[in-house]
Amino acid sequence: MTETAQFDILIFGAGIAGLSTAYAANMAGLKTAVIDQNNPGSGASGTPIALVNPATGRKAKKTWNAEVCLTYTKQLLEKIAIFSENRFFIENGVIRPALDKKLAEGMYNTFIQSTWSEGWVEWLAEEEIIARFPGLKCINGGVWVPKALTVSMNEFILALYQYLKTRGVVFFLNRRFQTDSGVPFIASCDSIKIEADIVIHCIGKEMVDHPDWKLLPLHPVKGQTLKLKLSECLQFKSSVSSLGYIAQSPNNDRTIVLGSTYEHQFDHLQPDTNGEKYLMNRLHKTLPDIYDYCQERTGWAGVRVTVPDKKPVVGKHPEIDNLYTLTALGSKGLILGPFLGKLLIDFITDQGRIPDIFSIERLFG
Ligand SMILES: Cc1cc2nc3c(=O)[nH]c(=O)nc-3n(C[C@H](O)[C@H](O)[C@H](O)COP(=O)(O)OP(=O)(O)OC[C@H]3O[C@@H](n4cnc5c(N)ncnc54)[C@H](O)[C@@H]3O)c2cc1C
Repeated sequence: MTETAQFDILIFGAGIAGLSTAYAANMAGLKTAVIDQNNPGSGASGTPIALVNPATGRKAKKTWNAEVCLTYTKQLLEKIAIFSENRFFIENGVIRPALDKKLAEGMYNTFIQSTWSEGWVEWLAEEEIIARFPGLKCINGGVWVPKALTVSMNEFILALYQYLKTRGVVFFLNRRFQTDSGVPFIASCDSIKIEADIVIHCIGKEMVDHPDWKLLPLHPVKGQTLKLKLSECLQFKSSVSSLGYIAQSPNNDRTIVLGSTYEHQFDHLQPDTNGEKYLMNRLHKTLPDIYDYCQERTGWAGVRVTVPDKKPVVGKHPEIDNLYTLTALGSKGLILGPFLGKLLIDFITDQGRIPDIFSIERLFG
């Protein structure tokens, strides 16, 4: 016998985008379900340790609405912390040393031109960086971002999943549903039939080939990370963003994660030795003496999606009535995902609008 379950919102994808949107929908009192063809965090959101860094790119540019977005993510992390046995995030800051004079000049100019709130970033001279972050290479100074966070992604995603379940969000995992667009939208699998007024696609790299989203200029980018167990802790606790990032485990267990490669052309989805060499080479340029301390190495690879202007895509499908998306979070899933999930739900419930820079319409202008 087929049972029919009815929901206000049905979200496809249990990565950062989908779970953040489910959180916002649940907070807004909407009856919410999430479908994932695998487990939560099995896509790009399964990267081992990630940064919530509000100063990104080579020149440490301030991300969109950085203070508000980071604070929102941090409040979410704090709220769900009890749903994990391990400490899965830490406010350990990110140090961004320049590695040559030209970059130092560019970073400094970006720093003085940006309007940061008090206490969010600081310019440190070369001597100060070398003294405070022993072993780190630095030329002519860099940017210190004390409020940046480092997050163990698997534990974060699992904690959020557990939290949402206790809040009444219904999950359908590890199965593929047949879908039938329309109002209501219908998804069915074996003896389960789901009806929903609104559907949100947060399906990561699967967006690229999805027939409903062919009109978006989405592009897949493979990224590799490398987890290293060190024989000794680094002599400082912060994470580093220089040539890629060096994320220190929130558990202080001598694990660091190097990220990441950006492969626009790739013929397989596994981590490989080229990626590993590339990441080790960059580590060597940032922390020259660390080689002897690296023990076990574990590679990981995932695919994020992006659009030409590299900004997230949030909003309603231009032609299909009840279909929405939050996607193309690029490398900024943690800092932007939770707040954009809220903006999307505010938009759907007529409580707010999507900023033009993230709107779907901008991609056709
Ligand atoms: C190498 C690398 C390093 C990263 N480093 C950082 C970092 O430092 N900081 C940071 O904030 N973020 C980082 N990220 C994450 C990045 O921000 C991603 O953009 C983000 O994880 C994307 O989340 P998402 O929910 O859009 O997609 P995904 O996490 O890919 O989730 C998509 C989900 O949809 C499911 N799905 C797919 N198709 C279907 C379907 N038809 N039906 C049902 N379910 C489906 C998948 O199983 C998956 O669980 C990194 C990612 C990578 C790959």
